[in-house]
Order: sequence, then C-alpha cells, then structure tokens
Amino acid sequence: MSKRGMLIVLSGPSGVGKGTVRKAIFEQDDNKFHYSISMTTRSMRKGEVDGKDYYFVSKAEFEKEIRNGGMLEYAQYVDNYYGTPLKYVNEMLDQGKDVFLEIEVNGAMQVREKCPDGLFIFLTPPDLMELRHRISGRGTDDLATIDKRMAKAVDEIEMMQNYDYAVVNDEVLNAVEKVKTIIRAERWRVKRF
Ligand code: 5GP
Repeated sequence: MSKRGMLIVLSGPSGVGKGTVRKAIFEQDDNKFHYSISMTTRSMRKGEVDGKDYYFVSKAEFEKEIRNGGMLEYAQYVDNYYGTPLKYVNEMLDQGKDVFLEIEVNGAMQVREKCPDGLFIFLTPPDLMELRHRISGRGTDDLATIDKRMAKAVDEIEMMQNYDYAVVNDEVLNAVEKVKTIIRAERWRVKRF
C-alpha cells in the first residue's frame, strides 16, 4: 500500500493574509500540493470563478452537504458558511498526494480533531509576534502568564497554541518561503509524535 499523503493546513486570524500567501504558493510552479477548493455560501466576488476559487452554493445545498456527512469541517464566518468537502481530500490523501487547505481557525481546529497527524501552520501578523517577543523578553512572566497576556491582547492568537508552527506574515514572499521550508522539513521527519 502506498504512503498516505500529508494534509497541510494554513490557518490564522482573520485579516492576516492567508489567501494572499496561499495564492503566492500556488503561483510558484515548484509546489507539489493539491489545493482543496472550499465550498461557500457567500456570493461570488468580481473576478472569482466557480469551481476554482470556491464552489459557490446556496445555504440549502451547504446544509444538505453537512447532513450527508460530506464536509471534513465547516464554519460560519461573517454570516456565511465555509467548508472543506471531504471527498476530494480523502481521495488525494489515499493516492499519496499532499493536500493544502487554507481555512479559518475554527475549521482548522475541527480538522485537528479528525486528522491529528496533519501539519498545522498558523499565520500571524508581525505586530502580535512582536508583542509576544516583547512580553517574554522582559523575563518577568512564566510561560503561562505570557500566554494569558497574549490571549487577552487578541482572542484569536490563543489559537496559535494548537498549531505546529507559527509564521509571521511580514512580507508575502518571506512568509511563502517559511511555509515551504516547514513543509520540506516535515517530509523528512522520521516520527511525528
Ligand atoms: P473570504 O470570504 O475572504 O474568501 O474568506 C473568508 C474566510 O474564510 C477566510 O479566513 C478564509 O481563510 C476562510 N475559509 C475559506 N475557505 C474555508 C473553508 O473551507 N473552511 C473554513 N473553515 N474557512 C474557510
């Protein structure tokens, strides 16, 4: 039996630039990942293509997929559903191909539950990372206190604790290189746990 592919999840707080980083990764022709196209109930934006950017569906269609167990994960984000169709992901992984998801944090945590051996990368804005460095650099707080302060500063950053890696999105191409380096290293990993 061939080796199952790797599930790579790029996630992070809203507005951090996940979509931009993901698109830049896929514009480079050296990547070997298969992008999982999400399903959404939000309306199509100018320039978007159904079946390429998203599968654009009605609320009723999306809810039917949920009922039928067709979603790996889904979340409501600004009054719309977003989710990852299970079938494509499973098929690719079964064929030994690596699958790349770009999703928000609540969905990523559902994937974490179902696929603990996936690779979870958290994209973070530079100022929050800077904040963490500043707090820990003072040397006055233990790790738990630092974590509490960070959680207070921005709720969503709390989610970073559940990821394998954090990448600062200071500049898109830098972030892209870092994400690709992590993925390369992960392929050479002997043991995951
Ligand atoms: P947008 O409407 O700007 O395309 O996306 C809004 C948010 O939904 C972004 O944070 C994006 O990463 C996230 N998103 C896109 N597809 C999915 C998905 O399949 N599942 C989840 N949970 N979030 C998604």
